[in-house]
Amino acid sequence: MSKILVIADHAGGQLRKGTLGVITFARQLAAKSGGSFDLAVIGQGVGAVAQAVTGYGAGKVYVIDSAELAKYTAQGYAQAVAEVARKAGATVVAACASSFGKDCMPRVAVKLAAGMASEVVGLGNGAGVTYVRPMWAGNVLGEVEITTPVHVVTVRTAEFDSAAPAGGPSPVEAVATTVSAAALKQRLLDFRPTVSARPALTEARVVIAGGRGLKSKDNFKIVYDLADALGAAVGATRAAVDAEFIENDYQIGQTGKIVAPDLYIGAGISGAIQHLAGMKNAKVIVAVNKDEEAPIFTVADYGLVGDLFKVLPELTARLKVRKG
Ligand SMILES: Cc1cc2nc3c(=O)[nH]c(=O)nc-3n(C[C@H](O)[C@H](O)[C@H](O)COP(=O)(O)OP(=O)(O)OC[C@H]3O[C@@H](n4cnc5c(N)ncnc54)[C@H](O)[C@@H]3O)c2cc1C
Repeated sequence: MSKILVIADHAGGQLRKGTLGVITFARQLAAKSGGSFDLAVIGQGVGAVAQAVTGYGAGKVYVIDSAELAKYTAQGYAQAVAEVARKAGATVVAACASSFGKDCMPRVAVKLAAGMASEVVGLGNGAGVTYVRPMWAGNVLGEVEITTPVHVVTVRTAEFDSAAPAGGPSPVEAVATTVSAAALKQRLLDFRPTVSARPALTEARVVIAGGRGLKSKDNFKIVYDLADALGAAVGATRAAVDAEFIENDYQIGQTGKIVAPDLYIGAGISGAIQHLAGMKNAKVIVAVNKDEEAPIFTVADYGLVGDLFKVLPELTARLKVRKG
């Protein structure tokens, strides 16, 4: 029987949508193992986030609200997560495989002497609890068993539908923390978020990605124009990032962000496996490439063999006419 603790991912006082994918994972695991799940919200001024997660049927919503956690550090948050995990008697501690989860959860695993499975995409079909996770840039799926009493897991939330509210409201319980910001060896000096009016890449329903085929930073304007016409987020390949057409925050793929939008449009992208690892779960994939042999066409639902410098502006113009 698993006692699962889901760590809520949030920013700017708002719950990040990925948390709802982790709740779905927790529900699946609880159903399989006959267990139950709780939620934990950690930070400062997180009352609204705690309220936002009370309707999902968790046994409890644990809240650590402390001025000592006003600024995120992996050290401080890992200590707080471990504290709340012990308090909840958690046997599985799960979080999004987001920047937060990737940074914080391995430290949590050390603190809890727990084995860890990262980037989990599903549960194994056997009788026991095993976790399915991609390996080799997503070319194979491995099924891993964790043999320690406590498991720490990060979940690829694009693989799990967002949970809908169900199961009634959960009681909220405040938990004290021993974290002292002054005692930590890490201090956050400055935080410079990417400011954009467009949706966040990992949460967007539509993503327009550009590759080396764009040829220059200035040319990326046609990607931005199409994104704005569709209310979409912008993404890129590593080649486009390396060529400094766009900042690396926008990179999709094995060493970038994992996206699973309803619609992904890739322009001037060959479709290397490392890029596909980050977007092949999009519901509909559209590729624009002048080379009909480009590997991206093997995963595309719609392929347009053509010059992106003609196709993208035409598409944008037509969308604007339809909107206007
Ligand atoms: C360890 C490792 C990790 C990596 N991680 C990532 C990652 O996370 N994400 C990632 O993206 N890559 C990653 N890469 C790099 C990856 O292998 C590829 O090099 C990269 O994805 C290629 O980017 P691209 O498709 O933009 O460029 P290219 O492969 O050069 O493709 C450009 C495409 O544009 C087309 N094109 C050119 N002009 C036009 C035009 N006018 N109209 C239409 N089409 C045109 C061409 O036909 C071509 O198919 C990684 C590599 C390694 C080794």
